[in-house]
Amino acid sequence: MRERSASDDTRLRALARAAELKMDVDSYLKNRAEIPTGMSRQVEVEARKREILRILKASEQDWDDWKWQVRNRVKDAGLLAEILELSTTERKRIEKVGEVYRWAVSPYYLSLIGDDRENSPIYKQSVPDMRELYGGGSLDPMNEALTSPAPCITRRYPDRLIINVTNQCAMFCRHCQRRRNIGEIDRHACRDDIRQALEYVAGNPEIRDVLITGGDALLLSDQMLDWILSELDNIPHVEIKRIGTRVPVTLPQRVTPALCDVLRKHPPLYINTQFNHPLEVTPWAKKACDRLVEAGAVLGNQAVLLRGINDCPDVMKRLNQELLRIRVRPYYIFHPKTVKGTSHWWTSIHRGLEIMEALRGHTSGLAVPTYIVNAPGGLGKIPLMPQYIVNVRPGKFTLRTWEGKIVEVEEAI
Ligand SMILES: *Cc1c(COP(=O)(O)O)cnc(C)c1O
Repeated sequence: MRERSASDDTRLRALARAAELKMDVDSYLKNRAEIPTGMSRQVEVEARKREILRILKASEQDWDDWKWQVRNRVKDAGLLAEILELSTTERKRIEKVGEVYRWAVSPYYLSLIGDDRENSPIYKQSVPDMRELYGGGSLDPMNEALTSPAPCITRRYPDRLIINVTNQCAMFCRHCQRRRNIGEIDRHACRDDIRQALEYVAGNPEIRDVLITGGDALLLSDQMLDWILSELDNIPHVEIKRIGTRVPVTLPQRVTPALCDVLRKHPPLYINTQFNHPLEVTPWAKKACDRLVEAGAVLGNQAVLLRGINDCPDVMKRLNQELLRIRVRPYYIFHPKTVKGTSHWWTSIHRGLEIMEALRGHTSGLAVPTYIVNAPGGLGKIPLMPQYIVNVRPGKFTLRTWEGKIVEVEEAI
């Protein structure tokens, strides 16, 4: 028998370590089976879609037309009750909330609601809830109204700003952080206001990054988007453009070849969307994201941490992993703002940190977004991380690894 070599020994140690790492992922893999994604529910969704088409007396062709989807957003409690077979009590509750807060859901997003609708993250994000009428918060906790130096503009940072081009959305999310802008009427900003916003950007050479958002920026017409993006391309100091939109989630039909032909003309373009649950990652969302990527856009996700939707490490892990599969890079997780009417969504910062702890090291770094708490009063985004620094002495950091092992790192001074 040959003597055991040093290399056998390192291989054995590596195998033992691999077994340890396997154990780390095991409990997630067990739980993962219980976290459904939108990729595995095509048959159920298609059936719901046919039912909605029957009730709306519309065709498959209508369904694929984004303008039909917007025109036929469901905003009548009676119609919703028919589609989802709601009880009279449920219908009356929705009507009551609807007297205070506007609601509307695209037929596509409605088709994603499963049979277990009480617990459906899709239902909860789209259908009014009585709890919206109670609880604290304010309508403008970020003081956005005070950060607008020109029409349509929100400026809170040195080198970048937002242009709000519309208050329209494919659906009015129940957790919406900009509720105060969602009035009774849909309104795109008028061309003159947008022109003034563009003039502000042109007149301030330190602005190198412009975010076009709303509302949902992709509810503008192709022509309007083309005009705004062209104007920004003509400003020499604007280095990058970003679009804020939830259409890949709520209205993937909007991502037409014609829209992509417009977007393709205006690189570099970054598009940030908002997937909050793996059930939203559907074959249709994937197709929309594929088209956007093929048009040269770089896709990112800004999830909102929502109680009962994604305030769970395994759900958030699965969401971010599913997003990478459709080429959407998790960018931010936002801690919910204290907007009036959304208190039932709030969860603790401790919970947010626990989620970040469960992601880092345990899964791809690409699947780890930055966790952000917005400072009250519009003072900006604050990144939060679990504490990895245990102690600091001159020349020496005591740090904690992702597994909680304590290590010392010398610092050059
Ligand atoms: C979030 C935000 C931005 C963009 O911030 P990034 O951290 O660069 O993504 C820009 N302007 C305003 C007003 C914002 O709220």
